Amino acid sequence: MREPVVVGNWKMHTTLVEARALAEGVRDGCRGLTGVRVVLCPPFTALGAVSQVLAGSAIQAGAQDCHWATQGAYTGAVSPAQIVDAGARTVIVGHSERRAIFGETDEMVGQKVAAALAAGLVPLVCVGETGAERAAGRTNAVVERQVRAALQDRSAEEIGRAWLAYEPVWAIGTWQAATPAQAAEVHARLREIVAELATSSVAQRCPILYGGSLKPDSAPALFAEADVDGGLVGGASLKAVDFVEIVRAAPSAKGRTGSPIH
Ligand code: PEP
Repeated sequence: MREPVVVGNWKMHTTLVEARALAEGVRDGCRGLTGVRVVLCPPFTALGAVSQVLAGSAIQAGAQDCHWATQGAYTGAVSPAQIVDAGARTVIVGHSERRAIFGETDEMVGQKVAAALAAGLVPLVCVGETGAERAAGRTNAVVERQVRAALQDRSAEEIGRAWLAYEPVWAIGTWQAATPAQAAEVHARLREIVAELATSSVAQRCPILYGGSLKPDSAPALFAEADVDGGLVGGASLKAVDFVEIVRAAPSAKGRTGSPIH
């Protein structure tokens, strides 16, 4: 049975002081919780500090993006090795904001996935359609293209170390989450594609998270879907109480509530 995963994406928010306080709030709020993996992705400026706050807890730090090169003349970029050095174990790759605002292509996402895996990071690969693409009936075609581009050159063993997030672009930051049925349909298709690219046992183990306006009230029904293995949370991850409530909904929805992790 897959352990659910809940990831907080803080985007370009928090000063160092705010980041430490938020990480402490989540760490303390999750004390005593089992049956769920939790990752916090602060901005790069706070990654080292947040890693220190989380040290000794079951919560891990992650990064929001990486470059594909190991080092070099790439002003402003951060390599997977530098992310590992800062204490992170996971990196978000291919977020729709990176694709739309920074011009990241499917090919770049594939290169980032390869580089992250080579550095020992878990790449959390984001895919999702725009509202126009959904209206045109192209949802499955779009997410399929994005997942194949991200994973097709990777071995089954490598794909077995990746996580996926289905993040419909129209649901991000809009307070309009996908319905559980909409998410379930796409997640099931994503799992089929992972099985085609790797093996069915890799696909059965692969965490596929839902992201897009997840809130404490929308999370339980989404997490109750069999192929929804937790969530990638943006806005609601900036308030420790809301994020912790979403985290707690994941093991509850899967019948996994348990004993303390500390
Ligand atoms: C995101 O950007 O990854 C996200 C899920 O944002 P929000 O929860 O704010 O919709």
